[in-house]
Parts: sequence; C-alpha cells; structure tokens
Amino acid sequence: MKKLICCLCHCHTIGRQWPARDAGFGICTPCADQLRDIVSPEAMRDMYGIRGTHYACSPTEAQCDSLLAEAVAEASQTSELAFQCVRAAHKVACDARHQNPLAAMALLPLLEQSSRITAQLAEIATALEGGAK
Ligand SMILES: [Zn+2]
Repeated sequence: MKKLICCLCHCHTIGRQWPARDAGFGICTPCADQLRDIVSPEAMRDMYGIRGTHYACSPTEAQCDSLLAEAVAEASQTSELAFQCVRAAHKVACDARHQNPLAAMALLPLLEQSSRITAQLAEIATALEGGAK
C-alpha cells in the first residue's frame, strides 16, 4: 500500500497501483463513491482495480505507521525547500528595499512556490488521517 494521487481530483490518497492507471495514480474514496452510482462494477474494476485492495483501502496500524514515516521523511525534505524559498524571498526583499524596487517582483514566484508546498503538506496529512480511521 502506498500514497497515490487521485486521477480525478488530484488529492493524495492511499492504495495500490492498478496496471491500467499511470504510475503513482489511483482514485480516492470520495471520487470512487461518486462513480459507483454511475459506472458498472465491471467498468470500475477495469479502470481502478478492486475496491478495498487498490482503492478505498483500510490500512492496518502498521501500514499507517510506515506511510506516516514515509510522509514525515518527505515533509522534512519539502520543509527544507520551503525554508530555502522563504530565505531567498527574504534576501530578495532586502535587496529590493536597498537597491532596486523592481527586484521585489521576483518575490512572487517564490511565495507562490512556498504556499503550494504548504498546501501539499496539508493534503498529505489529510490523506493519512483519512487512512488511519
Ligand atoms: Zn479524487
């Protein structure tokens, strides 16, 4: 069992790779529940695999622990990147104040990147909480 990205809503979810899906993609439980009402069980299996195995999984406590350890390792790398972005943004802001006000424009992509990273971390945390229930 591993972290996957839902191919429909692009949220983080937990499941197993189904060969018919691109590597790293699966379907989240809310999207699968919505499709269940309009797609036949055979088509669901062809597209997404077996419910409870490839998607809509209930991980054991041990599996949650290992997913959590993996996410923590990933998050520490991501936070390092976010920290570098904030530091670079700070430097640009200082330079801009002292030298060239136009340099402040360079802040925007850095700040966008760090807010995207923060949003990704929040999604990972939510996916893990959902899996732990
Ligand atoms: Zn989804």
